[in-house]
Amino acid sequence: MSRAATRFFLTRSLLPLPLAKWQRRRGRPGSSIFAAWAFAMAASGSGGGDSFRLSAAPGAGVLKLHKGDITLWSVNGTTDAIVNAANERMLGGGGVDGAIHRAAGPELVQACRKVPEVKPGVRCPTGEARITPAFKLPVSRVIHTVGPIYDMEKHPEVLLKNAYENSLKLAKENGIQYIAFPAISCGVFHYPPKEASEIAISTAQQFSEDIKEVHFVLFLDDLYEIWRETAQEMLSQCDK
Ligand code: ADP
Repeated sequence: MSRAATRFFLTRSLLPLPLAKWQRRRGRPGSSIFAAWAFAMAASGSGGGDSFRLSAAPGAGVLKLHKGDITLWSVNGTTDAIVNAANERMLGGGGVDGAIHRAAGPELVQACRKVPEVKPGVRCPTGEARITPAFKLPVSRVIHTVGPIYDMEKHPEVLLKNAYENSLKLAKENGIQYIAFPAISCGVFHYPPKEASEIAISTAQQFSEDIKEVHFVLFLDDLYEIWRETAQEMLSQCDK
């Protein structure tokens, strides 16, 4: 178990008081706390998931894969962030965006409204990223990015790479050491998941010396298997 995960268990599950951020904020005692605890078990490697080194360099960051709901993911509530697959307006939507806004509470949309528009109705152009507090979520920040609609863009691969890269840059600039992504653009934006996983993991590799852990939280079993296959293809030699 990593030091961060050990710290998580000591602070979250063994010490009774004070309540941790996610315990105070979830507002649905019992089931959600248990779910977050169970997720932390999985996130720490104690209850499933896969883990790969991002490069062979000493001290390189780690890539971790999980099945599950990204709104339950956290490491320490201070240097962790989840990434939202948002839309350009940044005022919430369906899919993972809706789940994140529901879990964060109404303060998140208020914070998003304060992000300046770069043109009417656009706070975050496709491929860019913005950061806000996380409110009721168990992490410290939400990084909002917009992936491409696969069939509408001439070069969706460039925009998807930009979305991952700009999220990781913003994380680094804000002292985030643990970051979790959903499968950006792989829902209603219909990006082919194998190609998406290759872009996601190769871009994470670029930040192997800047971020301690890059996590992917895959909601669907088939996406999880695709990400795992790609990680094995791209990263298994880093552990040798
Ligand atoms: P996009 O518009 O970028 O395609 P979607 O929200 O439609 O965004 O889907 C992106 C991915 O997020 C999909 O693979 C979807 O299954 C997944 N997803 C939906 N809800 C969650 C969640 N709570 N946690 C993690 N991933 C989720």
